[in-house]
Amino acid sequence: MRLSILKEDLSSEPRVAGSPDTVKRYVGLGFEVFVSSGAGDLSGVGDGDYEGAGASVVGDNAAAVSGADIVLGVRRPEASEVSGAKPGALVISIMDPYGHEAALEELAKAGVSAFAMELMPRITRAQVMDVLSSQANLAGYRAVIDASSEFGRAFPMMMTAAGTVPAARVFVMGAGVAGLQAIATARRLGAVVSATDVRPAAKEQVESLGAKFIAVEDDEFKQAETAGGYAKQMSADYQAKQAALVAAHIAKQDVVITTALIPGRPAPKLVSEEMVASMKPGSVVIDLAVERGGNVVGAVPGEVATTANGVKIVGHLNVPGRLAATASQLYAKNLYAFVETLVNKESKALAVKWDDELVKATLLTKDGAVVHPGFGGAPA
Ligand code: NAD
Repeated sequence: MRLSILKEDLSSEPRVAGSPDTVKRYVGLGFEVFVSSGAGDLSGVGDGDYEGAGASVVGDNAAAVSGADIVLGVRRPEASEVSGAKPGALVISIMDPYGHEAALEELAKAGVSAFAMELMPRITRAQVMDVLSSQANLAGYRAVIDASSEFGRAFPMMMTAAGTVPAARVFVMGAGVAGLQAIATARRLGAVVSATDVRPAAKEQVESLGAKFIAVEDDEFKQAETAGGYAKQMSADYQAKQAALVAAHIAKQDVVITTALIPGRPAPKLVSEEMVASMKPGSVVIDLAVERGGNVVGAVPGEVATTANGVKIVGHLNVPGRLAATASQLYAKNLYAFVETLVNKESKALAVKWDDELVKATLLTKDGAVVHPGFGGAPA
């Protein structure tokens, strides 16, 4: 069995889909591993590290993919990049399928079985494969580090001989995986932290981290969680009440970090121009949802924008990639845990169980067609 690890377009994606640790494990499963030279350059992994772990480093992606049974990437590869793999090869990456149906058709035509890691069900068995969590956790941490470096003041309260410095006030909007890590990190740095979410279950989690929960807690709020544990689209009436509460709160904050997402939909707009204008000069707003349309009016993807009243709105792209070494290490492990389920360890051969719920949830294309029901395919 041949497994290849792609080199990403490093100008936009510093992460890599394999680590020396996972390469060793793949070799143990019976794979010959091929890594595209330079794949780990921005994640602190050199070609020699991969070779030391048992991989063959080859000149480019085409050479790595040639004859592969499994191709691993971070971002969805172009169909042309994987067409040299074996017919029916498994191509596994973060596929970003929403709104990219044409690209899925191309992958189908290339004859590969494409899997989207971000569609992995959030069940106990698949926790180790949960790329949304492994990457969002790092994004939440990094958002606070970025906020502290953009903020011209200290986070903790300091009582010094030269005077007392007040603690920074940090407000986190959206208390999922990223938000909870942002709360924990801001608390560790000594900030006074508050947070909001539309899911009632978030209240207890926020409070258990020592932050204050801010939300209109009416009947709609109490029922606002889907069976899968995700946020629901809230009514216009609820959104107006919540916005008024949040507006009054934001005016008193030094740092606002937004992480609110609704799967498969554009990110909800939570912070208006007026709210940003109500903040003190020098305040910082970090929009972690900027790639999905943004939670903050005025956030510019890939830029740090400064408003007329001196508030910085930070729209960094690919925030997990700002911690590329850690993000790659965890992502590589997520991938390995999934690949392990696709192999028969005794016969050392691919043995995909097409009716396994993990496969059914993540499989986008097979036998020349898009098969995922969420993206125009009939169920596999
Ligand atoms: P996400 O990235 O989809 O969204 C981030 C947060 O934004 C969510 O908490 C969501 O409720 C919130 N949000 C959406 N609209 C909002 C609005 N208008 N105002 C304020 N907040 C808003 O979420 P996630 O981090 O992927 O987590 C979603 C859920 O999945 C959570 O309950 C989490 O604990 C759960 N989860 C379960 C597992 C598991 O393995 N069982 C793993 C990870 C996460």
